[in-house]
Amino acid sequence: MDETKHWADVIADNVAATGEKHIIATGITPSGNIHIGNLREVMTADGAHRALHNAGADAELIYIGDTFDPLRKVYPFLPDDYAEHVGKPLHAIPCPCGNCANYAEHYLMPFLKSLEELDIKPTVYRAHELYENGDFVPATIKALQNRDKIAAILETVSKRELPANWSPFNVLCESCGRITATEVAGFDDRRKTVDYTCDCGYAGTVPVKGNGKLTWRVDWASRWGILGVTIEPFGKDHATRGGSYDTGTRISREIYGREPPYPIIYEWIHLKGKGAMSSSTGVTVTITDMLQVMPPEVLRYLILKTKPEKHIDFDPSRIVELIDEYDRATGRARELSQTKRSLRSDIPFTHIVTALQIASDSDSFREVLRRSGYGALDLESVKMRVKNATNWLALYAPESVKFEVQETMPHDVEKLTPGQRTGLLQIASGISDDITASDLHDLVYGASEAAGISGSKMFQAIYIAILGKKSGPRAGYFMASLDRAFLLNRLNEAGRAR
Ligand SMILES: [Zn+2]
Ligand SMILES: [Zn+2]
Repeated sequence: MDETKHWADVIADNVAATGEKHIIATGITPSGNIHIGNLREVMTADGAHRALHNAGADAELIYIGDTFDPLRKVYPFLPDDYAEHVGKPLHAIPCPCGNCANYAEHYLMPFLKSLEELDIKPTVYRAHELYENGDFVPATIKALQNRDKIAAILETVSKRELPANWSPFNVLCESCGRITATEVAGFDDRRKTVDYTCDCGYAGTVPVKGNGKLTWRVDWASRWGILGVTIEPFGKDHATRGGSYDTGTRISREIYGREPPYPIIYEWIHLKGKGAMSSSTGVTVTITDMLQVMPPEVLRYLILKTKPEKHIDFDPSRIVELIDEYDRATGRARELSQTKRSLRSDIPFTHIVTALQIASDSDSFREVLRRSGYGALDLESVKMRVKNATNWLALYAPESVKFEVQETMPHDVEKLTPGQRTGLLQIASGISDDITASDLHDLVYGASEAAGISGSKMFQAIYIAILGKKSGPRAGYFMASLDRAFLLNRLNEAGRAR
């Protein structure tokens, strides 16, 4: 493998030889908030999709919402009365907020909207519609006819025993509306119907079309053929020995006579200090949340810069570093991260975060930027960054990054050493009208040497005098951003104080 190539280009190289049209499939069960852990799947697919396009291949990205899956339990974020809906398909359950078409749409819609912002444009399918359209009927009949063969594959490969009454098809009960409580009693492959009984006491015969779905492992293998899937990313849980990709591979070959898609196995995204993200445990950050605090291209970059097989540590309190890294980045990961609306930013995000905390309103923000050397900036281009920084400060910024310029002299100035005071006076005397941020930075080091104290003691003295705390933003830019008369006055007063 060419180590210098981006992983998405390597995948494109590996599959391009077939010369066929590529269908890259992704999907999710919309049972709860769709978070940035889930985004890894569709982002990985989009990376491969773009790389294939760049390589001149014919490729389509598809997204399947598993809207026909049942509600498994009353998740902690649901009201108790959802107990009556457990076992029903997600598209047939009322939405939690009361404003959406159904439960599945409640979680699917914000996700699809954020995909638009991220410039990901899949063809979207909803599983219950595919079943209702009859797309799964031939595959279902075949599965029912080959029930024993499929059961043998599942038992041999996954090393688990299936109950005697196991069927590859789960019937939707006409009476109680649950898809998890029925048992197939027989089928008629000419009339394409199934006979079933249900826990609720009901028994009946219904057409296969629209009245049930294949069990997960069979459903997955059959949709490869139905939708023509040639490439599919999936989480490492499906890639284990005897896992659903292994069983899917055999079912696909032996029952449906088709090669399985090229697999892209991806690792989890860990939320700093909380572990792998999961909708059911509530350890999540939603994509919508993240797009409040970073531009879409940076969220793309977070995922695309890492090989799928490596896990990603994500720490929302360190988004500033991520954005600054993106701004400095060159190369393929950044290129693949671009969106139509990506804007070049000429100002480090770190500095926007600092300037916002110095400024009291948008006029003074402009003035702060001008003082620190960003006067010629097209403010339109920093607008989104300002919105991101404002939200980040309010929601995720660690205390160590937050500060407030003290209007009156902080009490802790009394604790400054004689050396620190001398240093502050030295800095004040070196400040000229046209001094730049980097000159100020050098001036601080010069002053610490002249005063016989360490650089870090010198920086501490500056922060104590202006912020009333021992740490703060990068001193050169920070001091340059302040009102000059205020800065000189404060340094001199703090230097002279006893
Ligand atoms: Zn809703
Ligand atoms: Zn029933």
